[in-house]
Amino acid sequence: MRDNEISVDIEKLHQLFMSGEKLSVIAYKFQVSEGYIQRLISNERKQNPDKWPKRKKKKQTMEIDIYSCEECGRAFGVEECEDPKVCPCCESELWEYSHSVKITI
Ligand SMILES: [Zn+2]
Repeated sequence: MRDNEISVDIEKLHQLFMSGEKLSVIAYKFQVSEGYIQRLISNERKQNPDKWPKRKKKKQTMEIDIYSCEECGRAFGVEECEDPKVCPCCESELWEYSHSVKITI
């Protein structure tokens, strides 16, 4: 433990971390800054990556269908369930479905 830093009980931090508590809330509970908590977690994660899994952000995701244009070769995304009408780059109607990706919004 570096004595020039505020001491945070790592086990308690781990419990809160695993419970899915927001970092800002955890920081508040320990009366330290959120940046400090982030540094602690990333330090711990370096030593013990399995114990500190990357958290899935609770952001909304949406599915985007990726098409590739047969005219200009560019890929473009269209919201799921919406058919592309034309390529946004060259306005070609010759496109092919490629794959879907999930994006966070
Ligand atoms: Zn095109």
